Amino acid sequence: MILTRRSFLKWSAALGGSAALVGGLKFGLEDVGAANERESQILSTCCYHNCGGRCILNAEVRDGVILRILPDQSAEDSFDNPRAIPCVAGRAIKRWVYAPERLKYPMKRVGTRGEGKFERISWEEALDTIASEMIRIKEEYGNDAFYCNYATGQLAGGIDMTYKDLGPMSRVFHLFGGYVNFYGTYSDACYSAVQPYITATDNNSDDDLVNSKLIVLFADNSLVTRAGGKGGGYHYLKAKEAGAKFIVVDPRQSATAVTLDADWVPINPGTDVAFIAALAYVMVEEDLHDKEFMATHSIGFDESNLPEGAPSNSSWMAYLKGDADGTPKTPEWAAPITGIPADRIIQLAHEMANTKPCAIIQGLGWQRRAYGEQPVRALPVLAAMTGNFGIKGGGTGMRYRINLGFAGGYFPAGINPIQKSIPVFMWPDYIERGKEMTSGPKDRIKGAEKLEANMKFMWNWAGNTLVNQHSDINRTKKLLEDDSKLEFIVVGDVMMTPSAKFADILLPETTHYEIEDVISGKGEGKTDFVLFNHKLIEPMYECKNILWIAEQVADRLGFGDEFRDGHETREDWLKDMVVAAQEGDEDFPTYEELKKAGLYKIIGQGSVIAAADFREVPESNPLGTETGKIEIYSPHLAAQNDPNEIPAIPKYIPEWEGVSDPLREIYPLMMVGHHAVQRIHSTYDNVDYLQEVHPQALWINSWDAADRGIKNGDEVKVFNERGVVYIPAKVTNRIRPGVTSVPQGAWYTPDEEGNDIRGSVNVLTKYHPTPYAKGNPQHTNLVQVEKA
Ligand code: SF4
Repeated sequence: MILTRRSFLKWSAALGGSAALVGGLKFGLEDVGAANERESQILSTCCYHNCGGRCILNAEVRDGVILRILPDQSAEDSFDNPRAIPCVAGRAIKRWVYAPERLKYPMKRVGTRGEGKFERISWEEALDTIASEMIRIKEEYGNDAFYCNYATGQLAGGIDMTYKDLGPMSRVFHLFGGYVNFYGTYSDACYSAVQPYITATDNNSDDDLVNSKLIVLFADNSLVTRAGGKGGGYHYLKAKEAGAKFIVVDPRQSATAVTLDADWVPINPGTDVAFIAALAYVMVEEDLHDKEFMATHSIGFDESNLPEGAPSNSSWMAYLKGDADGTPKTPEWAAPITGIPADRIIQLAHEMANTKPCAIIQGLGWQRRAYGEQPVRALPVLAAMTGNFGIKGGGTGMRYRINLGFAGGYFPAGINPIQKSIPVFMWPDYIERGKEMTSGPKDRIKGAEKLEANMKFMWNWAGNTLVNQHSDINRTKKLLEDDSKLEFIVVGDVMMTPSAKFADILLPETTHYEIEDVISGKGEGKTDFVLFNHKLIEPMYECKNILWIAEQVADRLGFGDEFRDGHETREDWLKDMVVAAQEGDEDFPTYEELKKAGLYKIIGQGSVIAAADFREVPESNPLGTETGKIEIYSPHLAAQNDPNEIPAIPKYIPEWEGVSDPLREIYPLMMVGHHAVQRIHSTYDNVDYLQEVHPQALWINSWDAADRGIKNGDEVKVFNERGVVYIPAKVTNRIRPGVTSVPQGAWYTPDEEGNDIRGSVNVLTKYHPTPYAKGNPQHTNLVQVEKA
């Protein structure tokens, strides 16, 4: 059921308006009465970081101080209308807002870049410097020298959002003549690059999982990565309640595997395509696959449905049988590569082929690897072969889909006059040799044949990929320290992060709890919402919001009036955004109604069964791929003429720094990273409560630990040729021998010798873009571990 405007009003009246004084409200909280006596207010807000979810929060505020964060109370908690309950990080917001690391006033660099030496300056001086540097660099190098770095620390606001072409500062840069953009993300670069060339669709929506009998997760840890609210983690728990069995394929026995009592398949990192090929081999050998579907719905399954011009023996069947390379992809072939015994592979092939419906789902961890494009393309083949593609409870083998709800409107940033973009991971190349970067296979820039300048100006707002979240921190530092290359860096943030230390001008930003905004939900599961984000407290210290900063910069660049376009106040913009939202939804409340109620919600969105119509009649309902079918053989990828690294069909490609790299004689352990419960990427790493609940530690198998004389809790040295990290060890059998994992996102903290002492994984990761997507391979690394 979608709430009509009438029902919305009725519903909000029942709540009494979340922005009002607590007196008279009924939130179903036992202690509301106590709050009332203290004359607190309960105000609607949300958690706005990049976990993939968007949890509704109610903040109790008194005398201008946040007292505590209360969970969503807007629903009765049914499957159609679940509460968006925050995770442990979302509940720690108070400790984050009041953290001692808050930036307090504008500063300018006084030492070597990156040294972290700054001098306090006025806002006037900071803004004048930014504007004059923008003018200087534009005159000297042109607009191709400007870049806004990937950043997701501020990822929710209608106004306070600085991600890619959104938000007030994008409007400034657009009016200024534009900047070079990026494509792809650090989360899903390989997935988003190849999805159009295999299925061109995602999986069924996550709420459909309750219809599955068997759910097989590859590299998916949704009970951590989509922990809060009503996203994937919630739907896994609902599917478990409904009786589904789970299998988790992962080098780590993740929290998802443990919580769901899943069968754990502890695979060697980077070998998933060998595993998938062996499963497929068994299905073909034993005639367990859906032959008719593969013949009518796919391209390149066997030699009979290859596209015109494809060479012989280039089909998936030919690959499985070894017709071209002489190596049949048998379970016995895959066993030493994957570390999964051959009889276990055979048993799993039987179970997946014979249980219907079976949802086969991929996460994103396995595509942040050296050849991350390949597993993304291989898994849908298995979903198709097992007869699950396009059916209820089954799916396409891609990521589960997030239902699209609605948006509460966004700040009108305008259009970037420069339609050039680089792969998101390759910004260091843009600094070093931007003028040499082209649309060719080495760089794959989009929107132009080449760039006209190296990067000279970087705007880095609410982001930590400048240093902390990008590969090979020591390499990045060296590059940024040389201010003759990248001449000017503006960083805006709420905390003194490792990236903030590399600013030339450092600006203190308000948190989302110090401003008003309109925030759109994430469309997870059966509900979606638009929320009025109340200002809980006055801006702290000298912090300013991005709208004010953008206006000030626009004034100094001479187009303040054009920027404002008649909007004098923040509320003017918010009201316009609501009007825009009303144009797309006749039931959308007015600005005043939304502000009073705090929340506008859609309930009972329908499930999406991806490609169901394609399954029924493929001719009339083609997929969005070039051929309209499941492209096991991709004509587009074949045309890249790089069969070893970008094969036309998905293949297992042995990785550099992978299971079979001879470098293992020096660095024997394969190191991956994983999402930590205590952080959202690097956000919250400074929150004391969260550090205490989930201390940073290296996961190492008890056999590997015993070989090295390491006991649980010992401080260890993790190293390779790129750097050294000191971190306590968590000795556990929840990670396979030969593999180790560092929870990603810890803030890089060097000692006097430049060795990290906090467990920052990117000291050890490699800057080596993937072949097609040019994505980040941050889980492909070899290291050695010693007792410190
Ligand atoms: S799951 Fe946690 S981090 Fe994500 S939106 Fe909810 S509270 Fe925030």
